Amino acid sequence: MTNESYTFQTRLLHNSHKIDPETGAVSVPVQHASTYHQFDVDRFGKYDYSRSLNPTREALEDVIAELEGGTKGFAFSSGMAAISTAFLLLSAGDHVVITEDVYGGTFRMVTEVLSRLGIDHTFVDMTDLDEVRQAIRPNTKAFYVETPSNPLLKVTDIRAVSEIAKEIGALTFVDNTFLTPALQKPLELGADIVLHSATKFISGHSDVIAGLAVVKDQALAEKLGFLQNSFGAVLGVQDAWLVLRGLKTLHVRLAQSQQSALQIAHYLEQHPLVRKVHYPALAGHPQHDLQKAQAKGPGAVLSFELEDEEVLRSFVAHVEIPVFAVSLGAVESILSYPAKMSHAAMAPEERKKRGISDSLLRFSVGLENAADLIADFEQAFSYVRAGETAK
Ligand SMILES: *Cc1c(COP(=O)(O)O)cnc(C)c1O
Repeated sequence: MTNESYTFQTRLLHNSHKIDPETGAVSVPVQHASTYHQFDVDRFGKYDYSRSLNPTREALEDVIAELEGGTKGFAFSSGMAAISTAFLLLSAGDHVVITEDVYGGTFRMVTEVLSRLGIDHTFVDMTDLDEVRQAIRPNTKAFYVETPSNPLLKVTDIRAVSEIAKEIGALTFVDNTFLTPALQKPLELGADIVLHSATKFISGHSDVIAGLAVVKDQALAEKLGFLQNSFGAVLGVQDAWLVLRGLKTLHVRLAQSQQSALQIAHYLEQHPLVRKVHYPALAGHPQHDLQKAQAKGPGAVLSFELEDEEVLRSFVAHVEIPVFAVSLGAVESILSYPAKMSHAAMAPEERKKRGISDSLLRFSVGLENAADLIADFEQAFSYVRAGETAK
């Protein structure tokens, strides 16, 4: 039996870096060295300088490549470093078609940095393939997908967008942060580059900032490796080790959080103070079937629209269990306010255009008991109701 025949759950633990070949250690050693002695003036060893290659970072890069079904993985100092380095594959004069409700930091990179470097973009509703096609220009070189999207959980057909990209010889980038390879494998659906904020579910404990990229194509792997080394935004070894440790429990964390997310989505759906719940597992979600077909599950992030901003403020003030914070994908539940947090980089009119209202909350479900979370929401809502009757 080879590693490849194991299920994903088993491969998280039994992969090419299961044990250290030198010592038998069951945890990847942290190699702090920045440089490596060369024993021969003509023939240098595999490692020469840790920006280019470091054994601890390499272990993480190998493992994520295996898990995503790619040939080569790259670890960066943050999700944005991974995304920005991937964008460096483009040149001045190129054009990107990008999903409109993209992560706020990616929005900022594309609109304020790439545009200054002469790389143009068009935002589209990626769930509408006609709109995707209409955005194509003679200089379109990449399609940037985030699915499910942030914060509205819209689902893009990765296979269909990848096919459109291939027709014109462009690349497809997929930000797989929300689902991870435990639930969705973009390379198998035709994407060229998978990107991650490993800060989120992959590491999972709100204790490290990290980014990952994985590719399948050998030539593309060489180009991205060259850019990783040239730009130099590599992940430090201690952080690489933390990500490797977090990865081991990815399956069990996501399975548990996803199960709770469904219960919470159903609870919110029937609540009179909640206008709308965005979660791909709900039968009313517009891309419910597509999500079922291209991913193994809906993930553990949902968002919900409250009656108005006043209700939101009261709810946030009274809810006790979740941390109220930026970020997602952790062992503790995280409640965020996209308008003031992840999407603050977006002008109010841009947010409005995308349907990100001032009464929308995003909820990343952690490992607390779902009944405790629901009871907490219920008591927070009760204050809103009490406030209403006092009026
Ligand atoms: C957080 C996040 C990023 C950015 O990652 P950092 O690790 O914070 O740099 C990119 N995409 C998505 C979907 C994210 O949630």
